Amino acid sequence: MTDAALAMTGAATYGMIHIIVCGGKNMSGDQPSDLVSTLDDLVRSIEALKSMGRQLSVKEEKLVALAQTRPKARMRIVEEKTPVNKQAEPQRPQGDWTIAAPASLEAVREELGDCQRCKLADGRKHIVFGEGNPQAELMFIGEAPGADEDRQGRPFIGRAGQLLTKMIEAMGKTREEVYIANILKCRPPGNRDPEPDEVMACEPFLLQQIRVIRPRVIVGLGRIAVQTLLKEKTPISRLRGRWHIYADIKLMPTFHPAYLLRNSAGKKPAWDDLQQVMAELGWPLPNKKG
Ligand code: URA
Repeated sequence: MTDAALAMTGAATYGMIHIIVCGGKNMSGDQPSDLVSTLDDLVRSIEALKSMGRQLSVKEEKLVALAQTRPKARMRIVEEKTPVNKQAEPQRPQGDWTIAAPASLEAVREELGDCQRCKLADGRKHIVFGEGNPQAELMFIGEAPGADEDRQGRPFIGRAGQLLTKMIEAMGKTREEVYIANILKCRPPGNRDPEPDEVMACEPFLLQQIRVIRPRVIVGLGRIAVQTLLKEKTPISRLRGRWHIYADIKLMPTFHPAYLLRNSAGKKPAWDDLQQVMAELGWPLPNKKG
């Protein structure tokens, strides 16, 4: 492989994908591909992978560097599939991420900067980066900040957030012991659903946070968050309660606390989901009544 080698890594619903683009001649055994002769081709390839449900995270400066390399590039895609819902040991993503994980959450925050990568920057008061234990075993991922979160720059602090805090406490933990983040770091106007370009701009930073924290389990909160993470449209009622994989980490979908505030019948199944998470993490389950 030559010094023009560029490695990018993405997390897919089914596991990891590595794309290795190499300039020069010394790619033993690989066939040349017309697809990768220009940066545009590479970007189109990335978009094609995304439309197939692959979530890719590529640093802008890497693409710029690629644009400046020889046009006769070659692409090799090595895909490793991890079956969805496999009852496997939790896997941490170390070793599978070709680009070194950022050193700290502070480094990720710094890279995010005064983000202007999507249209939500115009209407936001604060970026809601996420908060909690940088070494948390458990990470909660919601959809996007609401009005309260936007005002204070902290995730899940409104009514739904207060219920989430109670759910965490029912698990025997505090908010400070877990990590809480959202797919989007800026509030969509009127709390509308995240749009694809917003997710595309923001999700790489969530992936970076996951790479630093390396939680053993992620809880996905609500339909929008879970469908967006897993790139599928299955209803939350069918996704919840079963293990999935996101960024090579076990993910348990459950109902969003805002939904639970309106539908108390969902609380029992949500608690069942959280108990599965506790069992997976080896956390003590609360005694049954009595
Ligand atoms: N709903 C979310 O999904 N995230 C928040 O931070 C608050 C409400």
